[in-house]
Amino acid sequence: MNQRLLIDMTKLRSAMVENSDLKLPEGYFYQTSNANGLKTIRELAIFRYTCRKCEDAPCIAVCPADALEKDEDGIINRYTNLCISCKSCVTICPFGTMMTDFFRHHRNKDLFYDLNDKKELELFIDACPPGTVSLVESDENPGENIYRLNDKVLIKDYLYTTE
Ligand code: SF4
Ligand code: SF4
Repeated sequence: MNQRLLIDMTKLRSAMVENSDLKLPEGYFYQTSNANGLKTIRELAIFRYTCRKCEDAPCIAVCPADALEKDEDGIINRYTNLCISCKSCVTICPFGTMMTDFFRHHRNKDLFYDLNDKKELELFIDACPPGTVSLVESDENPGENIYRLNDKVLIKDYLYTTE
């Protein structure tokens, strides 16, 4: 079986709470389906799994640049070419869904890793806080809150549900 990257969003969030100066490395695949601009795995995962998919999405309404929209599955997509980094969406989101560092225009390029490259993949894992990111040979397992973001990436997070 192919190896997949398992990213534990709960541990990543804890690591950021424990150290507010923490600079998380960013991993990206250029080939992901909705990767307009330099869209990172963390952003894709948060909009897919952490976001509560509000029916009237205040984040979309407040955005002055029309940079946010919902896809047919109700998942928010941010157009990085339109976003002006005002962070209004971060402020208005009632659930604190977004991590503000998505919205920096001038991000530290040393922290970006192209995960299609085996060497950069290893460097990315080493640069992440211990225990947050690993390579596994398993597949998604909703019983353990592990979901498939794409063929190469598994995300561990707690899904919001009203059931
Ligand atoms: S940070 Fe970007 S996406 Fe968010 S409200 Fe501002 S322009 Fe829109
Ligand atoms: S306001 Fe927050 S939780 Fe609601 S759709 Fe927007 S990002 Fe998701």
